[in-house]
Amino acid sequence: MVYLDNNATTPIDRRVYEAMSPYLFEKFGNPSTLYSIGAEARAAVEEARKRVADLVGARPDEIVFTGCGSESDNMALKGVAFAHMERGKHIIVSSIEHHAVLNTAAYLEKIGFEVTYLPVDRYGMVDPDDLRRAIRSDTVLVSIMLANNEIGTIQPVKELCSVSHEKGVLFHTDAVQAAGKLKIDVEELGVDLLSLSAHKIYGPKGVGALYIRKGTKIHPLIHGGHQERGRRAGTENVAGIVGFGKAAEIALQEMEEEAVRIAELRDRLEMGILERIEDVIVNGHPERRLPNTTNISFCYIEGEAIILKLASRGIYASTGSACSSDTLEPSHVLMAIGLSPEVGHGSVRFSLGKFNTADDVDRTLEVLPEVVSNLREMSPFWRRKNVQR
Ligand SMILES: *Cc1c(COP(=O)(O)O)cnc(C)c1O
Repeated sequence: MVYLDNNATTPIDRRVYEAMSPYLFEKFGNPSTLYSIGAEARAAVEEARKRVADLVGARPDEIVFTGCGSESDNMALKGVAFAHMERGKHIIVSSIEHHAVLNTAAYLEKIGFEVTYLPVDRYGMVDPDDLRRAIRSDTVLVSIMLANNEIGTIQPVKELCSVSHEKGVLFHTDAVQAAGKLKIDVEELGVDLLSLSAHKIYGPKGVGALYIRKGTKIHPLIHGGHQERGRRAGTENVAGIVGFGKAAEIALQEMEEEAVRIAELRDRLEMGILERIEDVIVNGHPERRLPNTTNISFCYIEGEAIILKLASRGIYASTGSACSSDTLEPSHVLMAIGLSPEVGHGSVRFSLGKFNTADDVDRTLEVLPEVVSNLREMSPFWRRKNVQR
């Protein structure tokens, strides 16, 4: 199997599994109880909090564990919107956010908030001047992702954040896809809130975190017990949190070296495709892009068909976002960067990870040209184009 869909999810690192395992069995205690197995679980959660904080340059008490990256995004948007309602009911997001942000924004619109969706250029970049013009006196939050999950474009978050702060507006960034791939420092970026998810960095599914800068006013989404200092009720997912901590520790240690290795593999794949297949377009920013991601439009055919054909040969990639692949709409990200619906439909995302090798890339380069040419032979658009030639 050649797995090239690491932006959808990653396999658990064996070291992560080994760190988690005791907390499913002998160390099963509830962190809120006072006797020793509870205290042990509490200590493990706090140790993990420190490691996740270290991954982004935060203080441990600024990290709240959540159920997933989507919950972190929900908490950032709704939590800030609800806590600052008297000041204003306007928020700003980019038009290429993950659905966890976009659909939360749409929900807030439904209950009386106003949302501005910022455009992006053809590389997927938000212009800080567009943000400056969009901020109003009743704006309470700006949310712009650090790196895009579909095309890998990295936003100028430091600049965007300082534009927000000039006008006294809080800034959230979804760093779920950037974490473990780029160095992140919340002090350097200046952000007030930042979302993370364990399963995108070789940790378990079902655990995320929200960084909340000390002093930021925010409402909880989950009410109940006093866990997470009253910011997120519910008995902690101890094993999951421990796994997240271990994954964060490994990411911090290995990221720099891995990013170089993975970028080389990604470039080898991308160059190989450009050399072997005509009428392809690479989407995303040429330089400001995640090291592991390449999104490619294969004109005249459907991305879905390419994915299925590749899967039947044991190669796994995806068409943009895992979340929209059950609808017929072309990806909102590809539409926002200005692709036509036809070209958007022909796009495939290859996202590499730390378990990929040069052999994986070579195998893909062996199979893909054949898959594309078979599909094109069946495509009336492709035939018409060749007649016109
Ligand atoms: C995967 C992803 C999410 C959602 O994280 P989950 O833990 O799967 O809920 C949010 N934002 C981005 C950019 C993602 O890639």
